[in-house]
Amino acid sequence: MENVIIIGSGPAGLTAAIYLSRSGLRPLMITGEKPGGQLVNTDLIENYPGFISIKGADLMVNMLAQAENLKTKVIYESVKNVSKSDIHFEISLCSGEFLRAKSLLVATGVTHKKLCIPGEEKFTNKGVSWCATCDGPLYKGKEVAVVGGGNTAVMEALFLSKLAKKVYLIHRRSSLRAEKIMQERLQLNENIECVWNSEVVEILGEDRVNNIKIKKSNEACCMDMDVSGVFIAIGTNPSSDFLKDIVPFDNEGYILANGTKTECPGIFAAGDIVSSSLKQAIYAAGQGALAARCIEEFLSIR
Ligand SMILES: Cc1cc2nc3c(=O)[nH]c(=O)nc-3n(C[C@H](O)[C@H](O)[C@H](O)COP(=O)(O)OP(=O)(O)OC[C@H]3O[C@@H](n4cnc5c(N)ncnc54)[C@H](O)[C@@H]3O)c2cc1C
Repeated sequence: MENVIIIGSGPAGLTAAIYLSRSGLRPLMITGEKPGGQLVNTDLIENYPGFISIKGADLMVNMLAQAENLKTKVIYESVKNVSKSDIHFEISLCSGEFLRAKSLLVATGVTHKKLCIPGEEKFTNKGVSWCATCDGPLYKGKEVAVVGGGNTAVMEALFLSKLAKKVYLIHRRSSLRAEKIMQERLQLNENIECVWNSEVVEILGEDRVNNIKIKKSNEACCMDMDVSGVFIAIGTNPSSDFLKDIVPFDNEGYILANGTKTECPGIFAAGDIVSSSLKQAIYAAGQGALAARCIEEFLSIR
């Protein structure tokens, strides 16, 4: 029986592992398919305190090494299902193995929805991005496209409008889903042009993106648009399916938590998987540290 199993190895899970290991609780971490989490695929991070800039993969390799150095046990596997009894949680892994723990930290983050069009995979991190806060400064003075029509897409477009020469907001409908106040801010911004009833059907370039193909609904042919960057903001998918019926979710599938405590005693959550959390690494790391403290308290009175 483990004291605590951490599910997920992004900044939230790894920070919790570092704190729990230093408290002598010898946590066991299950990495999932993406050891290190979303940042592993990010080129340069310029907003993580302590580093003027660092490659996402380097930051996460260092965090993982730090946790292992402190004797966190690491299993390179994914969780398939979680069940609970009065005294413990049972975790089944995709390999078919079972584990038991007195407490759980869920730090499984999100996966960003993809357009699933030609060029998207090829130009990921070479002009295709899912994070304007992170990658926007690379497009100073250039023309970029944002794809989507919700709050995130509008927020990304507004952020980019301060840096880019021109921002095209491409949406497949004739009106936005974003809140009214966001739409008003958008209308006042002369640097953003909305391209309505349109879908991006292909992303093109050589080493990096330099062009996209757009298809208007009700039109047979496509038009070309020269842009250096494409920011995809069509939503995220929380990685929470394996916890169905155990902890409450919001209507998008994010875990509802009070701080890091879920409604189920012994299950804690941290990072992007938590409803309404700021989807940034430093916040995920902070929540990981807080979750470690709450888990320590939970185990001490159990
Ligand atoms: C392209 C891009 C660039 C970004 N750039 C920045 C930036 O510059 N600065 C910044 O602060 N933030 C940035 N972000 C946001 C940042 O990556 C996230 O906020 C942060 O990674 C969230 O950390 P997390 O630990 O909550 O989850 P994640 O990093 O998403 O990690 C989730 C972990 O859970 C694991 N997992 C998932 N399902 C299972 C399962 N069933 N079983 C076991 N494990 C599982 C995964 O393998 C992964 O290890 C960027 C995001 C993207 C996509």
